[in-house]
Amino acid sequence: MKTNIIALAALIAGLSFASAAEKIKAPNGGRIIDSVEPHAEFLINADKKIEIRFLDDAGKVVAPAAQVVTVTMGDRANPTKLAFAKDGDKLVSDKTIPEGKELPVVVQIKTAPDAKSATAKFSLNLAKCPTCEHAEYACTCAHGGEEKGHEGHDH
Ligand SMILES: [Zn+2]
Repeated sequence: MKTNIIALAALIAGLSFASAAEKIKAPNGGRIIDSVEPHAEFLINADKKIEIRFLDDAGKVVAPAAQVVTVTMGDRANPTKLAFAKDGDKLVSDKTIPEGKELPVVVQIKTAPDAKSATAKFSLNLAKCPTCEHAEYACTCAHGGEEKGHEGHDH
């Protein structure tokens, strides 16, 4: 009986670890893209370029491997396509992001050049969230989440 309890406790500990791993924190305050393994952090840097970092389950940055990232954003009739080059532990876009508010962004990540691509779509709202410390596109507070509805959120 005692071994069963220990096994159960280990199982519960394992489960809570697994769910904690799903909610990794962006190390640089960017947006987490969790539709790809390893997860990626999408960040607009001070030069208005996009930085992509890959994260392990603990949220630690891991050097890019063979990933191929493409970002298509802005005006749908005349979208801006950005390609990425490796720079140390991250990928950096070849161009700056276009001007505009809440530009639609499509991020495509292939784990290898011939792999199926994972896609993340969101709008790039660079305004600072009134509730948490991040920009809206990388917001980590609960607004927009299902559990808390839209309370305290006016846009
Ligand atoms: Zn927020």
